[in-house]
Amino acid sequence: MPSPPALSPSELARYHRHLLLSQIGLAGQQRLAAARVLIVGAGGLGSPAALYLAAAGVGTLGLADFDHVETHNLQRQLLHDDTSIGEAKVTSAARRLQLTNPFVHVPVHPHGVTPENAGDLFSQYDIILDGTDNFTSRYLNNDAAFFARRPLIYGSVFRFEGQVSVFDPARGGPCYRCLFPEPPAPGSIPNCGEAGVLGAVCGVIGSLQALEVIKLITGAGEPLRGRLLHYDALAPAFHSLNLPANPTCPLCGTTPSILAVLPAANSGLTCRRFPAPAASPNLKLPADHSLAPPCPSLPAPSSMPNPEFPLEIDVVSAQRLHLADPTRTVIIDVREPYELEICHIPGAEPIPMRTIPAQLERLPRDKHLLILCHSGGRSGRITDFLRAQGFLAVSNITGGIDAWAQALDPTMRRY
Ligand SMILES: [Zn+2]
Repeated sequence: MPSPPALSPSELARYHRHLLLSQIGLAGQQRLAAARVLIVGAGGLGSPAALYLAAAGVGTLGLADFDHVETHNLQRQLLHDDTSIGEAKVTSAARRLQLTNPFVHVPVHPHGVTPENAGDLFSQYDIILDGTDNFTSRYLNNDAAFFARRPLIYGSVFRFEGQVSVFDPARGGPCYRCLFPEPPAPGSIPNCGEAGVLGAVCGVIGSLQALEVIKLITGAGEPLRGRLLHYDALAPAFHSLNLPANPTCPLCGTTPSILAVLPAANSGLTCRRFPAPAASPNLKLPADHSLAPPCPSLPAPSSMPNPEFPLEIDVVSAQRLHLADPTRTVIIDVREPYELEICHIPGAEPIPMRTIPAQLERLPRDKHLLILCHSGGRSGRITDFLRAQGFLAVSNITGGIDAWAQALDPTMRRY
């Protein structure tokens, strides 16, 4: 072990408030000075993360981004300003970070992270912080961090929500593919360029990512490894969910099928940063894929099935119950609003999947809840979740609204 770097009087003055914290102290500050952190994406998440990590005295703070600053970035990407427009983001960001803290070394990687350079690049750093906003990069960063055995600090934002986790399979945690084994179909999921994002939400999530980096480096507190922190700014509420590693994960599971970083052509994604509108015929995954599922810590389905309220119900039976007595039965449609615009069942109550955990009070306990999504996957997980929460009269509509359209309503639009 090399001896920790000695801090100059001027550095000691700068970090005085850290030195007062027993969980950081001089030893922690020296560890920060010796640390090498790579921030992928000098944008909405990378900005607050990089600013806090530079100010905190992380000795080497690498920046990887191939993009240039545009006017619409300035609403949330605080590393850049009006004078940066047209400039490479890494150049603008490095200038800003050096002004924040001249003691920090800021190597820049203006070609960004690619399947070709990811292995070498990641191995030069201790921790990787993912500040990217597209699935191509998210899967690439996840896979490359796994093979380099580096912790990946994951963050994502969408409209008024965001989430953070620490993916670290080398130390017992899950990876991103444990949640979502494969990328969504190109164009099936709106990203922030289409759906919007509140700038300050990036500030919250990027700051949380910086915090997790500091905790890993200094050993302060418990890292978010094996857990996912979800933030809903409108509620406002934080939820922390358990996120165990998935033994069937194609990357970090017991019988992996991905044995190296995939070249771009095989990643299952195009390089589109702004996918087409969501009414894609290829839609296969939850709309909140970018935000990960709301209840990944779902327990096993109830072991005490009630024959009156089966776990699964076919669309014909569901329709019969729905029409027979609306005072006793309600269809809960857990799809996203844009999916509802494509098609919906009259009388069904829309509650998007990721909002269910926060809306348990709203759900009637005296009615049979029939849970509906596009094809039965999301609704199956919500059914399990609700049963675990004590709702006994809950059934998953097998095949979802797509099966409904095929079996019961040929005029309904399908997607
Ligand atoms: Zn995994």
